Amino acid sequence: MRIASWRWGGRLQVGTISPDGREATPLALADASRGVLPLIEALARGASLPQPAGARLPVEAIELMAPLHRPLRSLFCIGRNYRAHAAELATTVFRDSLPKEDAWPIVFTKLADCVVGPRDPVRLPGAAITTQIDYESELAIVIGRGGRDIARARAMDHVFGYTVVNDVSARDVQVRHQQWDLGKSFDTFCPMGPWITSADQMDGRDTRVRGWVNGELRQDGRTQDMIFDIPTLIETCSRGITLYPGDVIATGTPSGVGMGFKPPKWLAAGDVVKIEIDGIGAIENRFE
Ligand code: MG
Repeated sequence: MRIASWRWGGRLQVGTISPDGREATPLALADASRGVLPLIEALARGASLPQPAGARLPVEAIELMAPLHRPLRSLFCIGRNYRAHAAELATTVFRDSLPKEDAWPIVFTKLADCVVGPRDPVRLPGAAITTQIDYESELAIVIGRGGRDIARARAMDHVFGYTVVNDVSARDVQVRHQQWDLGKSFDTFCPMGPWITSADQMDGRDTRVRGWVNGELRQDGRTQDMIFDIPTLIETCSRGITLYPGDVIATGTPSGVGMGFKPPKWLAAGDVVKIEIDGIGAIENRFE
């Protein structure tokens, strides 16, 4: 199942997307104003999928929004989680915070308010604030059934599905403030979508993640290359912290970010970043 949130004919709707990604079917929901979040909460409580409401629509006719317009709270994000990406940062200012295989994942958060849709523009904050804008193609886990102290062995039972995010990052701001949250959370810095593919339809533990800038392939990795796998990330984020339905964990990015090039390739106004994950689909956002 693929669930999405969209605007059509001046109305907000939540519904399913056909397996070929071409048709959207609205569902009978009392309130579509919060995207798919109430649906994920209801399904986690054991409710069944609501009935279709209205005719099927061609996907080109709808305006897809982020499936979670505004997540329940900040997104959990994992830093430096692919081996090749860790290697490309080994000669940058981030060299001292490389995770070791036997250590703990790097975890930071991104404010929920910066989520935007799969085709929405990303606004550059301005040169007085940052001149080092970068992209990060990422698989994001969407939690279904909540829980605390979730053991690795049961962690996959808590995954509702997966979506695509661009963990847009201002590198100079990340460094300036020691912690990463400000540099990761400028308004519009988290494009998300185009929908959520449920966990029974794909294996997030081994899928392909690709990212393009203006049509040039920059990132091409597989989630199998993660240093800390999905069950470990869920176990880590839920240690003493309750995870709720609809919580998001962005799992880190493969190699090929702008910062990894010599000289670095920062994003500028007019650039278009496309990210595609096999089993889900693609998001494409222009920087302005
Ligand atoms: Mg990231």
